[in-house]
Amino acid sequence: MLFEGIDKTNSRYGEVTLSRCQHCSTAWLRFFIEYESFSHSGRWYRAPVPCEREIEVTAERAIEMLNSLEPRFAGGSYFNSEGFETRARVDLQP
Ligand SMILES: [Zn+2]
Repeated sequence: MLFEGIDKTNSRYGEVTLSRCQHCSTAWLRFFIEYESFSHSGRWYRAPVPCEREIEVTAERAIEMLNSLEPRFAGGSYFNSEGFETRARVDLQP
């Protein structure tokens, strides 16, 4: 794991990780959030981070970075999906 943190902006608890693929060395930024009082609210977003931008990763900047990276993928119970490519911005609606 290259980075692991919690984004507590606006009292949310987003789990942020940056991890490197063992096969191709690509660094993947991942954000996961789930609102306990809302069923089917779990969702993750992930996107490959170019080498020169790995240093920018912090828990607080994760969403902004994900919104700027392509391709990016989303999935989870909120979308009722195992994963799909998206151009939508990170959706934090419970
Ligand atoms: Zn890979």
